[in-house]
Amino acid sequence: MINLSQIRAQFPILNREIHGKPLIYLDNAATSQKPLSVIEVESNYYKELNANVHRGIHTLSQLATDEMENSRKKVQKFINAKHDYEVIFTKGTTESINLITYALSNSGKLSKDDEIIITHLEHHSNIVPWQMLCQRTGAKLKVIPINEEGILNLDFLRENLSDRTKIVSFNYVSNALGIVNPVQEMISLIRQNSGAWIVVDGAQAVPHFKVDVQALDCDFFAFSGHKMYAPTGTGVLYGKEAVLESLEPFHGGGEMIATCSFEKTTYAALPFKFEAGTPNIAGNIALGAAVDFIENIGHETLQQHENNLLKYAQNRLLEIEKLTVYGEKAHRTGVVSFNLQNAGISSDVGMILDKLGIAVRTGHHCTQPIMDFFNIAGTVRASFAVYNTNEEVDALVEGVKKAQRMLS
Ligand code: PLP
Repeated sequence: MINLSQIRAQFPILNREIHGKPLIYLDNAATSQKPLSVIEVESNYYKELNANVHRGIHTLSQLATDEMENSRKKVQKFINAKHDYEVIFTKGTTESINLITYALSNSGKLSKDDEIIITHLEHHSNIVPWQMLCQRTGAKLKVIPINEEGILNLDFLRENLSDRTKIVSFNYVSNALGIVNPVQEMISLIRQNSGAWIVVDGAQAVPHFKVDVQALDCDFFAFSGHKMYAPTGTGVLYGKEAVLESLEPFHGGGEMIATCSFEKTTYAALPFKFEAGTPNIAGNIALGAAVDFIENIGHETLQQHENNLLKYAQNRLLEIEKLTVYGEKAHRTGVVSFNLQNAGISSDVGMILDKLGIAVRTGHHCTQPIMDFFNIAGTVRASFAVYNTNEEVDALVEGVKKAQRMLS
């Protein structure tokens, strides 16, 4: 059983008011709130540990290094990577995906006859870096279409896999609609029909359920710390050892070299080859505290609570006439994305909800192709975290009804 009052007590921000009303935070897919344990670990680094990592012989530097490397091990276990050096710290999913695309072109891994497959359900950060890679290399981008429910057309994937396919990149969970893609099935298909490397954008997966990168058998797995209770500016790129070893670095600079001279520079071992410059030490250490926070609650407890919330929210919202839920029948987690028909645009609804202390996201959610598919400018998106309650969902529903009255 989940102890919600105990969990909520760990989030100081949940005590604040917005426009004189208690904050109801339903914008967790954008970024989650942070528990005290994470906030304290981060501030404690500056109070007690602040020193640069991997460079100093002095005690403080060694302590900071130990803490950060300990956090890397926690992340390794969290996603069940085989080795801790397969976990590269980045500043988020966007940087993780850009790292892959630049490492690929720096390594001369793609040329004009090659193909990259993504899906219609992607966040812009899993579209634009691939488009830029195609511009640099001449490779071609193909897009798996969706149906009216937002479900991917796997026949398209099957028919388009070939020796030319070098990369297939897709999200585990859509941030705009909350749809959970059949990644295991997709990965088997790709493995059977091509030698492509598989990139999974796990930004909306890791906050909600257990991920096992070895069981998935993906080549890369990218996610953001700040969506899973860790500070902003934190994220991870997991890569299989052999794949990472075969790639040139993305950024050059300090920390990522083994030797450096004007004639020749050699690179450091994994993961440091891909971690040029001073990292976000405080944030990376606090990411480990966020992993502890999730694991202390337990994935099953967390997942069950969030699934119940989503089901409750969807059922209650659908009681409202002239309300469309996108991807209503698809397998989803964490997100309900909807619009009121004939009652303003999503931002009008969002503004009315804000006046009631309810934070939701409105607009295209960095997924303009999905909005174009549904022929809409945006949606209202309520997204859940472990601290949300049914009472907050009730307040959302009342707020949406009020918005409908005011706008129609
Ligand atoms: N991919 C997905 C599915 C997302 O939801 C997001 C953020 O909303 C991103 C990528 C980009 O994450 P970040 O802004 O943390 O780099």
